[in-house]
Amino acid sequence: MLRFTLLGSGSSGNALLVATARTKVLVDCGLSFKQLNLRTQAVGETLDGLQAVFVTHEHADHVDGLGVLTRKMRVPVFMTAQTYACLPPKVSGLPGVEIFDAGDRIPVDGIEVESFSISHDAADPVSYTLQHAGAKLGMASDLGHVSQLVRARLHGSHGLILESNHCPEMLLRGSYPPMLQQRIRGRQGHLSNAAMNSLLEDLLHDGLQVVLLAHISKENNSPELALRMAAKVLERHGAALHVARQDAPTPLFEIRA
Ligand SMILES: [Zn+2]
Ligand SMILES: [Zn+2]
Repeated sequence: MLRFTLLGSGSSGNALLVATARTKVLVDCGLSFKQLNLRTQAVGETLDGLQAVFVTHEHADHVDGLGVLTRKMRVPVFMTAQTYACLPPKVSGLPGVEIFDAGDRIPVDGIEVESFSISHDAADPVSYTLQHAGAKLGMASDLGHVSQLVRARLHGSHGLILESNHCPEMLLRGSYPPMLQQRIRGRQGHLSNAAMNSLLEDLLHDGLQVVLLAHISKENNSPELALRMAAKVLERHGAALHVARQDAPTPLFEIRA
């Protein structure tokens, strides 16, 4: 069994807590140490026993809180060499950095973390699956394009965290300058609701228990729209469907093999 909660999700800060009976890991740390603690407690967990932090890419909304967290808790931080080289200047002096290559599998006390490359405008962005006792959590956020590799790695997940960033029409009509719109829409940008839907469709299977929509754009999407679209895909499927928020943690979910 794996427990997980998205403590925050969106362009102002991301962090995912994944736990077993004896191990906890974080994926990304774009929240302050205070917020991490408050939100973890709000779902009935603590950061005690945190064993590792995994970083997807160097954008500030994924790494801003890394420095304080790792200095206070002395946990190792895993990332690729290029991600490490491109961290923002304010995220410096990290103790215990562990470098891996995209594609590596890293075991952390019973949780098998597998990395895989994704397409995003960062130095060497990766995403992860986390497995324990047969239960598999797959995540894909901050990617502009769903590759065969992404589909293959997420295949068979019992829990899915999928980016549902924007509605292309809202993006087009919105206030973002054309350059930024192009960046978001591009192959190295962010997934639209429709792109998420087609990925979700491909990943449906009887063992899927939880689908969490993530990294929803404040300006170019609405949680209701993203939910409505995903709910269509999940019609007649029993999986729970939730949307992650920027300012509050999701409930704590459990998945089993
Ligand atoms: Zn992001
Ligand atoms: Zn990003």
